[in-house]
Amino acid sequence: MSSGWSADFSYNYFRRILEAIRVNFNPHLLSQAPRIEPAGGRPKIIVRHDVDVSLRHALRMAEIENAFGICATYMFIPNSLLYCLEDSTSRDVLRQLISMGHEIGLHFDVSNEVRSPDCEVSQVESQIDAAARQIESITGMPVQSISFHRPLQQFLRGPVIVCGRTNAYSGQLMNWYMSDSKGCWREGEPLPRLTRPEKPLLQLLIHPIWWGEKHGLPEDSLQEFFEGETRGKPSEFVRAFDGALASTVPAVRRRDVQGIPHSNQIGQSRGMP
Ligand SMILES: [Zn+2]
Repeated sequence: MSSGWSADFSYNYFRRILEAIRVNFNPHLLSQAPRIEPAGGRPKIIVRHDVDVSLRHALRMAEIENAFGICATYMFIPNSLLYCLEDSTSRDVLRQLISMGHEIGLHFDVSNEVRSPDCEVSQVESQIDAAARQIESITGMPVQSISFHRPLQQFLRGPVIVCGRTNAYSGQLMNWYMSDSKGCWREGEPLPRLTRPEKPLLQLLIHPIWWGEKHGLPEDSLQEFFEGETRGKPSEFVRAFDGALASTVPAVRRRDVQGIPHSNQIGQSRGMP
């Protein structure tokens, strides 16, 4: 992370990404993927956001995209430990995203009880349907796309449609894939690739929590979020929230645990907050 660009998860860098997209690509929503004809014309792009942690961060990115005339697909976890889609603030965020033309999709986490190398999609279909219906009951619109949180290896490069919805991890959408997972662009700096597209269809995955007005390291971004959400709250809440954060984003640990032991029992605080 020593070079200038790689440390840049600021909104200004995001704006440069969006400008490159605007100039070089035709953006599509994830739900449109089965109907995209990659060959011919400008390269196509699907910008997808997995909202693991914070609706506030998601809304900020949606507003910036809107200023560039770009629509993206935002995936939400209905039974998240960190946010409640049913509360009025969340409903308002969803409403604003939809009004800007963004798509609302399902970010689905296969539960620890079912997770195994042998688990097949068919085993979780009814849970996927129930989770999608939860979002639909809030937005009043069909959920047409799904991405898996902590995707199982066997789910990668799967079919285009899963449970009647566009599958973000389908083979055709992973031929060219760039992601900021864990607050790091594994494939290298995105901007040069966006400026000189090499393939006809790109899926760009962004996690809003890693981004801010100023760049921050992922552990610092989590820390700032944690402090904002737990300030002035009772210690039981803080402890539960800490466990929820650790189990939702297991790969990155916030900077300072403030003397609160991290839960080693992932999922211990399920249902909170
Ligand atoms: Zn996720």
